[in-house]
Amino acid sequence: MDPGEPLSILLANIILPWNTGIVIGLVVMLLLLFCSALISGSEVAFFSISPQDKEKLEEDEGRNSARVLELLQRPKTLLATILIGNNLVNVAIVILSSFLMSMMFDFGESVAVAFLVQVVVVTLIILIVGEIAPKVYASKQGLTLSRFMSAPIVVMMRLFSPLAKLLVQGTRKIDERARENEGDNQITADELSHALELTTDDETQEDEKRILSGIVKFGSTEARQVMTPRVDVTSIDVDTNFASLGNHILDKGYSRIPIFKESFDEVVGVLFVKDLLPHLGAEADFKWQDLIRQPHFVTENKKLDDLLREFQEKRNHLAVVVDEYGGSSGIITLEDIIEEIVGEITDEFDDDELIYSKLDDKNYVFEGKTALIDMYRVLDIEGEDFEKAKGDSDSIAGFILELTGKIPLKNERVKFDNYLFTIEAADKRRVKRIKVTILD
Ligand code: ATP
Repeated sequence: MDPGEPLSILLANIILPWNTGIVIGLVVMLLLLFCSALISGSEVAFFSISPQDKEKLEEDEGRNSARVLELLQRPKTLLATILIGNNLVNVAIVILSSFLMSMMFDFGESVAVAFLVQVVVVTLIILIVGEIAPKVYASKQGLTLSRFMSAPIVVMMRLFSPLAKLLVQGTRKIDERARENEGDNQITADELSHALELTTDDETQEDEKRILSGIVKFGSTEARQVMTPRVDVTSIDVDTNFASLGNHILDKGYSRIPIFKESFDEVVGVLFVKDLLPHLGAEADFKWQDLIRQPHFVTENKKLDDLLREFQEKRNHLAVVVDEYGGSSGIITLEDIIEEIVGEITDEFDDDELIYSKLDDKNYVFEGKTALIDMYRVLDIEGEDFEKAKGDSDSIAGFILELTGKIPLKNERVKFDNYLFTIEAADKRRVKRIKVTILD
């Protein structure tokens, strides 16, 4: 071809006169493209059927729905059939298209142009019309398409049966290997928790997401992170006389009171307030100590899921948390565990006093004893940096003591990451109130 020739003359030279054969060929090619689209669409349609869709199919009495369910019972053969069918059709399209091209166009010496048209154009058409578009459609209308394609696929399955069997046999080894490795593929709590974060941000799902991530996380949360620390526990000396017992109990209104001998480090039992009810009018020297139940001790690093199981088995609601030296660090109850899953529970006797106040989006004030994990929840953060940096501390005050190495003074500021902690109230022994500012 001469590059100086006008385009119309060029085209006139290239395009050959059409005949009936070409028209029939084009119609067949369109039909094949349509088949390719249906078959590759059904690959996505069948394999994206969810358990809910299966329920719908089971409820539907139509023949097509029953056929879809039957096909899904042999997923490997189904996939092999679809792949064989799709590839055969695509190969037919390629052969027919190159045949038609040679009948329709005369590229003469221009091998490059002929190659470009035949390979690039035909590949693009197969990809867009025969693969991508139908798969996108099938991902939205999987059920409709799989019902529509169920009968043709049954026919294809019969036609390609020997070939499909060969393919399934051929991939058996790979399948067995994959199954052996399945043990290593267990999803970790971390992966689950990230997966939850990636789920849609729908308003209605917020609560479900919070509960699900609570369940995922509570398996790795330890007792000491959520216990009520010993300084806040209402406990009673076993030598207290019955007359003054009432005042101690009424003071805070707890249903279960740890009973200690000499100091809280030696808890000898737990008094259930309801056990006292039949003896309300008893004499002052009534031996209430006989009502004490055996204490249940757990270590500080006990995981909450194990503890929940223990509580269920022993039908117990309260455990005394002990440290590595055998001293008591605090108590943990069933409610503390459940709160990790469902969030704060306030029962009739819990005081509503806020453990934090929000000044604005960037500033919060917490009590020093607030657990770090409660602070993460309020600030809506994962707290990974805190968890990495912290030592044994579980409360905000403990964390600040670790950072500073001393009890900080009022108005002292401590920066960690992009958080600024300002001590609002402290005495010689405790950090009482802390302002947390989120820095930009
Ligand atoms: P119940 O709801 O069964 O009557 P309760 O209200 O006394 O019991 P829980 O609901 O088990 O107590 O726990 C509520 C919160 O109170 C938990 O955070 C728990 O750690 C704390 N708690 C329970 N008993 C005591 C106690 N004797 N001293 C201090 N804190 C306690």
